[in-house]
Amino acid sequence: MTDYLSTGSLPDEYRQLALTVRDFANQVVAPVSAKHDAEHSFPYEVVAGMADMGLFGLPFPEEFGGMGGDYFALCLALEELGKVDQSVAITLEAGVSLGAMPIFRFGNDKQRTEWLPQLTSGQALAGFGLTEPDAGSDAGGTRTTAVLDGESWVINGSKQFITNSGTDITRLVTVTAVTGQAGGKKEISTILVPTSTPGFVAEPAYNKVGWNASDTHPLSFTDVRVPQENLLGERGRGYANFLRILDEGRIAIAALAVGAAQGCVDESVRYASERQAFGQAIGRNQAIAFKIARMEARAHVARTAYYDAAALMLAGKPFKKAASIAKMVASEAAMDNARDATQIFGGNGFMNEYPVSRHYRDSKILEIGEGTTEVQLMLIARELGL
Ligand SMILES: Cc1cc2nc3c(=O)[nH]c(=O)nc-3n(C[C@H](O)[C@H](O)[C@H](O)COP(=O)(O)OP(=O)(O)OC[C@H]3O[C@@H](n4cnc5c(N)ncnc54)[C@H](O)[C@@H]3O)c2cc1C
Repeated sequence: MTDYLSTGSLPDEYRQLALTVRDFANQVVAPVSAKHDAEHSFPYEVVAGMADMGLFGLPFPEEFGGMGGDYFALCLALEELGKVDQSVAITLEAGVSLGAMPIFRFGNDKQRTEWLPQLTSGQALAGFGLTEPDAGSDAGGTRTTAVLDGESWVINGSKQFITNSGTDITRLVTVTAVTGQAGGKKEISTILVPTSTPGFVAEPAYNKVGWNASDTHPLSFTDVRVPQENLLGERGRGYANFLRILDEGRIAIAALAVGAAQGCVDESVRYASERQAFGQAIGRNQAIAFKIARMEARAHVARTAYYDAAALMLAGKPFKKAASIAKMVASEAAMDNARDATQIFGGNGFMNEYPVSRHYRDSKILEIGEGTTEVQLMLIARELGL
């Protein structure tokens, strides 16, 4: 992939993957999207379909049940799903890049062998528990504690807004917790918490503005006792390790956002060609045509940004700044395109059964989750030495 930065000349294996996922999105996902959105129901049948296709294992080696692909392959799949249904796309994104990836990157052999096959096959989901009521953008404000008691960690505290944390197939949540003090600072570590552990509770799901078919819960931990060996990675490296996971995840969120931005273009072209007003298709008006042309430009620029970030990451080069840029421009493109597409659809754009209205509600969170736009600007400025 690293030799190909052009969005128009993907190597064959990537193109085939994107086309296969596009077919799945159109034939399997699209027909049930409005229903799951309206009912706020988790799309188990769609998740099972993605599991059968191997999408949860895309960027993992075959020895862990994966498909032997790479992170860019995951991004292409997310872009195709994001065009049609952001809830489905975020379920895959969180399942892979937040659920399985921390164990692949930082787990020991035992942890990888125990957890990865179930997660990469899509038979089970894991959540990523970083955010707390007092620790969002400032994630170092973590208050959840884990205290060693004999051979066990005893965890107390709470997390909020955790994706994939309360489905029937959720088996694990990886949590950050304060495990002590080091050099006058909080020592933050990461611990694997099976959801069957007594004291762990996924509280009732949130009533969200969008991403209605994705699973999001507050979590509480009351004297949750897990074996000492459930520490993931080095003690005290939990925060740093999660930040690495978030850097990668931003490229995946950017890909999802590009899908949403492009989905709005595609829907708008079709509608503007069909909808008649004043004796002609509304797309014959330059005001509408230019709006759609600008939407296409936003999607294209955002796509080049995430391709660039993915290429740097796969080449083993620094990619933090590129990932933040991609996440910021892609989420803004999705939100701007969703707003413009809704306008093009007129009154229909305000009706929940139209996909553009779903994009309008869904896209806002893209500018907030996995680091707000302001956090991306902070990271970009920091990389510039400011
Ligand atoms: C649907 C959904 C799913 C999520 N999934 C997960 C998940 O799976 N795991 C997980 O750990 N978290 C998850 N999150 C949490 C998400 O990552 C946080 O909501 C996000 O990072 C923002 O944190 P916050 O909500 O505490 O906002 P705050 O940090 O309170 O920020 C509030 C506002 O202040 C701004 N701000 C804060 N500090 C500064 C500053 N220094 N300079 C300028 N502006 C600033 C922010 O940009 C924002 O606009 C999810 C959230 C949602 C809504």
